[in-house]
Amino acid sequence: MRIKFLALLIFVNAIFAQDTLPLFVPRKPEKPMMFCAAQKEWLAAAANFEDWEEVKGIKNLVINMPYATFDNFSGHNLYCGIQRAFLHKDAMQKLKWAANFLKKEKPDYKFILFDAARSNHAQEVLRSAVRNTPWQHFVSSPAKGSIHVYGMAVDIGLLNEANEPVDMGLPYDSFAFYAGEKGEAQAISQGLLTETQIKNREFLRSIMRKSGWITLPSEWWHFNAAPADTIRVKYEQPLPLPLPQ
Ligand SMILES: [Zn+2]
Repeated sequence: MRIKFLALLIFVNAIFAQDTLPLFVPRKPEKPMMFCAAQKEWLAAAANFEDWEEVKGIKNLVINMPYATFDNFSGHNLYCGIQRAFLHKDAMQKLKWAANFLKKEKPDYKFILFDAARSNHAQEVLRSAVRNTPWQHFVSSPAKGSIHVYGMAVDIGLLNEANEPVDMGLPYDSFAFYAGEKGEAQAISQGLLTETQIKNREFLRSIMRKSGWITLPSEWWHFNAAPADTIRVKYEQPLPLPLPQ
């Protein structure tokens, strides 16, 4: 009973006081796993999927996906160490526009692509790392459908002229309340973010918005290539979840 009450308390706290949550640091799995069979099956489907393209040939973009390593919040190597990224061609077009804007405005900068299309299998592994915790709203359930599985979202940052990550105040996949635009005003008043870090985030957002990307208020690195509801209706995925019986 006490445990149930505690769980309820955590839940209520999550709803009403998200800004006061401690920073989420998921427990590392006892046995870190490498999901090779699932990822290879998905990669083959993605490579052959109509209207999808592999992300390559963009000169000012490097691919560096933490989910293809063990160094991510789930502690598992979701992509079998394979650094290959795919997107729907509509999203690819917008990524190319963004790369052109970046080249014009900061010729010495590069994009660093953390993630693009993602399998439902990987989505489930990510979700299970936060399921039934106050932080689960940070990661979509595969049942709802992450925009990443439609090849219509990117997680992206910037590298400066020295090839170092541009300081956004928090790393990729941070679970802090000020990981995105919605927490920035509060974070700056509390001294958690500097003006420069906000300016860096604004610069990334401006380049992406100009190219037709939509920002996510809770994550500085995540961008959708169209409104989420439209994507869930109009776009498909290479390996959809089986329909409920
Ligand atoms: Zn994302």
